Amino acid sequence: MQTQNILGFNFIRATNQEFQKKLIQRLDQQKNTFVVTANPEIVMYALAHPRFAKLIKKADYITPDGIGIIYAGKKLNLPLKERITGYDTFLYLLTQAQTKHLKVLFYGAKPDVISAVKTKITKSYPKIEVVGAFDGYLKDDQPVKKCLQETQPQLVFIALGSPKQEEFINQNFKTTSAIWMGIGGSFDAFTGKVKRAPKFIQKANLEWCYRLVTDPKRFKRYLAIPRFLKVVKRAKKDIVQR
Ligand code: UDP
Repeated sequence: MQTQNILGFNFIRATNQEFQKKLIQRLDQQKNTFVVTANPEIVMYALAHPRFAKLIKKADYITPDGIGIIYAGKKLNLPLKERITGYDTFLYLLTQAQTKHLKVLFYGAKPDVISAVKTKITKSYPKIEVVGAFDGYLKDDQPVKKCLQETQPQLVFIALGSPKQEEFINQNFKTTSAIWMGIGGSFDAFTGKVKRAPKFIQKANLEWCYRLVTDPKRFKRYLAIPRFLKVVKRAKKDIVQR
C-alpha cells in the first residue's frame, strides 16, 4: 500500500474502500496486522516521546484519522487521499465480522459502556462471536491477556485512548493472529454515550470543532493542534530551503 512520510510517519495513501479491501485480504490470509489511526494529537505525542514513536512505526498501517493530517499532507506536497477514521473502520469490520462469523475481543471504555457494547453487538450483529468484552479500568489486564491466548480472536479492538491502547497492542501482538486496532472513544460513540458530529459537519471538516463545543473538557487536548500546525509549517520551510 502506498504511503506518504509525514513528519516521520508513513501514512497510507488510500481511500477507505481501498484500505478496507486490504484489511479483508489480510484477514483472509490470517496475517497479524497492527493498525494505528493517528490524528495530530498522536503525532505530537509521538514526536515528544521517541519510544512511542518507535512503537507506532512498527504498525502495519498508520491511517490519517483527523483532518489535520490531510492538511499537513497537502501543505507538504505529500497528498493523501482521504481521512480514514478508527470509528468508520471499526463499523466496517463489524459488518465483516457478522458476515464471516468472526471471533472478536473488545477492551476499553467505562464498565457501563462496554456492557452496552456487548448488548448492542448481540442484538445487531448476532453472528459475531464475542470472545471477551472488558472495561478499560481494570487494575490488572491479566484476564484480557488470558482471553486473547485462549480464544484466539480474529479482530481485537482496544479503546483505552492513546498511548495506552497502542502500548497494549504492542505488548500482546504475538498472542493471536488478528487485526488489532486502537480506536479511542469509539465504544462511547457506538453506544451513543458520545454523539458523533452530523454528516454535514464531518463533510465540512469541522468534526473537531463539534467535539470541542460538545465536550469543552477536551480543550487542553486541542492545544496540540496549533503546535502541530507550527511543526508542519517548519517542515514546509525546511523543504523550501533545501
Ligand atoms: N479509557 C479507558 N481506560 C483508561 C482511560 C481511558 O478505557 O484508563 C477509555 C475512555 O473511557 C474512552 C476512551 O478510552 O472511552 C478514550 O477516549 P478518547 O476520547 O480519549 O479517545 P479519542 O477518540 O479522542 O482518541
